[in-house]
Amino acid sequence: MSHPFSQTGKLTFDELLHQIHIVSEQLPDLRSGDVTYKMLDAALGAFSIFFTQSPSFLDFQRTLEKAKGSSNAQTLFKMVNIPSDNHIRNLLDPVEASHFNPIYRYVIERFQQSGQLEPYRYINGDLLVALDGTQYFASSKICCRNCKVTEHKNGKITYSHAAITPVILVPDNPRVLPLEPEFMTPQDGDEKQDCENKAAKRWLIQQGSRLKELGVTILGDDLYCKHPVCEAILKEGLNFILTCKPDSHKTLYEWIDYLEKTKGLQEVEIQYHKGKHHYIDKYRFTSDVPLRDTKDSLKVSWCELTTVRDDGKVTYHNSFATNHTITNENIVKIVKAGRARWKIENENNNTLKTKGYHLTHNFGHGKENLSTVMATLNLLAFLFHTTLELMDSQYQAIRNYLPRKTFFDDIRALTRYMCFNSLDELLSFMMKGLELEADDTG
Ligand SMILES: [Zn+2]
Repeated sequence: MSHPFSQTGKLTFDELLHQIHIVSEQLPDLRSGDVTYKMLDAALGAFSIFFTQSPSFLDFQRTLEKAKGSSNAQTLFKMVNIPSDNHIRNLLDPVEASHFNPIYRYVIERFQQSGQLEPYRYINGDLLVALDGTQYFASSKICCRNCKVTEHKNGKITYSHAAITPVILVPDNPRVLPLEPEFMTPQDGDEKQDCENKAAKRWLIQQGSRLKELGVTILGDDLYCKHPVCEAILKEGLNFILTCKPDSHKTLYEWIDYLEKTKGLQEVEIQYHKGKHHYIDKYRFTSDVPLRDTKDSLKVSWCELTTVRDDGKVTYHNSFATNHTITNENIVKIVKAGRARWKIENENNNTLKTKGYHLTHNFGHGKENLSTVMATLNLLAFLFHTTLELMDSQYQAIRNYLPRKTFFDDIRALTRYMCFNSLDELLSFMMKGLELEADDTG
């Protein structure tokens, strides 16, 4: 591939594709002898379908190749030959999804080098990384060796797959950056919680030293607010802000009750107007409360926010545990960070599930790893789009102008009928047609 690196230090699409090339060439290939389709074709073929959000992308490219001698599969996505869905299935099913993890790491490293992570630093210079489990496949019929099997009381069986899909996020910024996922492969008798906590701990151990270097505060829901997970976070040199509910933290809330009675909680109140109403944000916090009822329990800082409207209605209430020292100055920020993890539902998991990034594409499910390989390639497509949104001025201009659905409809139509030498050329073509000008200063 010719010079995939941009002059500006920003990540380009070709540079990103180049990473898929590097990884794909090292994928284990169980076949021997001369083969028409390379592992590269299978990985890029699946990726191209997710990136264009067009299940028929490869069919269209085959037709285009017959008519014009070349297709976007080769020019845009740098495939050698266009594999069938069947080839993709057979070639990728034996591959472990973790082979693709270096691509996620590469992207974050490049973000760091080009200064693009700086806007994501939030509390004490830390990046916020939200952990959240998501089920991305469920069926009563289709299953593979790695499916989780749930037997219901009525005798019915559900096969499913779930993963932790961590993202870097920051309050008031709609763009989240996915990090490599950790797939949950349940053992017999594992509860959801055990399974998700175990997956989180595996992920933390693998990522810890890299995250420590970046400076990271982990965000997560009440499920993660457990002594062993917090301990694992601290052991890796990371910080945490986790939802901390009364029902699952009896001992901690006995302390809070006691401190409340003895006026031992610190308080901050902020009043403001929003729309027709007047609101009061009531913050309370303290430090050094035990997370659980054991002698060796971690001591954490605790805080809560209750928002009360002028008609007396409580419009928000939540509480968090953190290892950060809470002060009058940072309490608002800490709670805002804790609340920001809800964004993961909207920006990452929801986008993946509902906005065209079908994690469960009709490629079929495979017998071994296909389902997880497809999920990780799909997440990479999401990461590549987010990267372009942050780094490519043409892409930004078009996405600001076109609604999401129109954008992908147009990509599908254009690549069906015309062959573009690069994504740049495709985007330039769209810019001209829409009479847009790129802002190159950003
Ligand atoms: Zn399965």
